[in-house]
Amino acid sequence: MPLTDTQVHDVISALTRKTKGVCPMCGSGELAVMANIANIQVFSSINFGFGSGEGVIPSVITTCKNCGNIQLFNAHALGVTKELNLPPADTLGPKTGEEGGANG
Ligand SMILES: [Zn+2]
Repeated sequence: MPLTDTQVHDVISALTRKTKGVCPMCGSGELAVMANIANIQVFSSINFGFGSGEGVIPSVITTCKNCGNIQLFNAHALGVTKELNLPPADTLGPKTGEEGGANG
């Protein structure tokens, strides 16, 4: 199910607060928030296969309207977990490599 207009607004508000709001590739300020979430499945071994993932990182997707660069933002780090009705995470997702860092 796509994000509601309110959820997209909440994401844009978070991105406005936490980023410079420009494309890192071309410098354009014309970024579009996609109405979908990308779930990045993560693994701790290269011997992965179907169903062997250790979790997902729900990510907000933006696309630069000028050059097409796509960026992903960890929804937990962006602070929109509740707004997007995502399950809470103790950290930024499955494993960050810096447990207890900025979030703890
Ligand atoms: Zn761009």
